[in-house]
Amino acid sequence: MIEATITQDEKEVLKYVRQFAQKEVKPLAREIDRTKSVPQKIIDRMNELGLFSSYIPREYGGAGLSFSFLVRVIEELSMACPSTALVLDGALTLFADPLIMFGSDDLKKRYLTKVAAGAVGGLALTEANAGSDAAAIKTSAVRKGNGYVINGSKMFISNGRIAKFFVVDTVTDPSKGHRGITTFVVDADSPGFRVSRDIEKLGIRGSSTVELEFQDVFVPDENVVGEVNRGFRVVMETLDSGRIGIAAQALGIAQAALDEAVDYVRQRKQFGQSIGDFQGIQFMLADMSTKLDAARLLTYKAAEMWDRHENAVKISSQAKLFASDAAMSITTDCLQLFGGYGYTTDLDAERHMRDAKITQIYEGTNQIQRVIIARDLLRQ
Ligand SMILES: Cc1cc2nc3c(=O)[nH]c(=O)nc-3n(C[C@H](O)[C@H](O)[C@H](O)COP(=O)(O)OP(=O)(O)OC[C@H]3O[C@@H](n4cnc5c(N)ncnc54)[C@H](O)[C@@H]3O)c2cc1C
Repeated sequence: MIEATITQDEKEVLKYVRQFAQKEVKPLAREIDRTKSVPQKIIDRMNELGLFSSYIPREYGGAGLSFSFLVRVIEELSMACPSTALVLDGALTLFADPLIMFGSDDLKKRYLTKVAAGAVGGLALTEANAGSDAAAIKTSAVRKGNGYVINGSKMFISNGRIAKFFVVDTVTDPSKGHRGITTFVVDADSPGFRVSRDIEKLGIRGSSTVELEFQDVFVPDENVVGEVNRGFRVVMETLDSGRIGIAAQALGIAQAALDEAVDYVRQRKQFGQSIGDFQGIQFMLADMSTKLDAARLLTYKAAEMWDRHENAVKISSQAKLFASDAAMSITTDCLQLFGGYGYTTDLDAERHMRDAKITQIYEGTNQIQRVIIARDLLRQ
């Protein structure tokens, strides 16, 4: 049994998280996929259980639990419903983490305390013409009075409809490329800010993915995360931890698929015996389980290094790359084990496969993870 490096107290809390995920979230997963939204009562329950406050530092209303613990929580929730996991993951790794790492004390007091009390946040980096090439963003922030005025639009923003605030990347000095980017916190109720479109998707359909529009949105100087023109570093470091969160999401999706497939091959009979008695099927199961455990080791190791403030750039990309590729191949093979039934919407196998696909794409596609890993190797 592979275990994350977490404290005895965190292990105890994790038991409740697993119970909540399996008893309260999992039974709703199909409905969440169908209705394309995570019910507010589930978000409220995550807050009641202290999941939003878990990772927030104590001085800002949180419990100050470890990143390794958060990774285990995301994995457990993703086993039940990855869209639900993404609500928490977005709030903590994408919104809270950049503030924890780079925010002023004032910013932390104003926003981390709200996240600790259950408010959802998000990260708005991607634009229609700037995905993998994040430094090519065009959304501008122009100096006005004691702040900045933001104009532009953002694409594919998770938690879009439910977030109360976003970390937003803008261009403050277009002549300086990635050295001219500034990161702000923008409240969703700011005049001029709006969700301009809901985006329909293949998987994680319960997660709200939207396009955002900024028309003369004023943000005060106090809402700069870190320093003016130093925002690219903020977002790159945010994605380092974010990728470990996505690796954990991939683990959860793959584990759910594998558990269901193992149950099925035990009881499904063909040619007068359980299909799990065929060696061809046993070899598939063995390969899936090995890939999953290898992905788990990498992911837990990356989280542990993040907790120890070690350089985790390469390992976080490796964890995300390996775990998401494993999840895609495991969920595809699991569907195969269900035969024709796996191809129907009567079972969850097809949903696991649809949900797994996004983990190879967001927070940097797996091609981009390879670029990061190779760059790190060649730099040494
Ligand atoms: C459901 C969903 C949720 C998302 N949530 C968020 C969010 O909350 N916040 C946010 O800011 N963004 C979010 N994103 C955006 C996501 O991170 C981007 O979609 C992703 O980084 C890829 O960018 P792109 O879609 O523009 O693809 P492109 O960059 O156009 O890439 C197209 C293809 O080219 C490949 N490619 C590009 N450059 C290279 C290269 N140098 N070498 C080799 N191959 C390359 C890519 O790997 C890909 O296969 C989300 C996306 C989705 C679909």
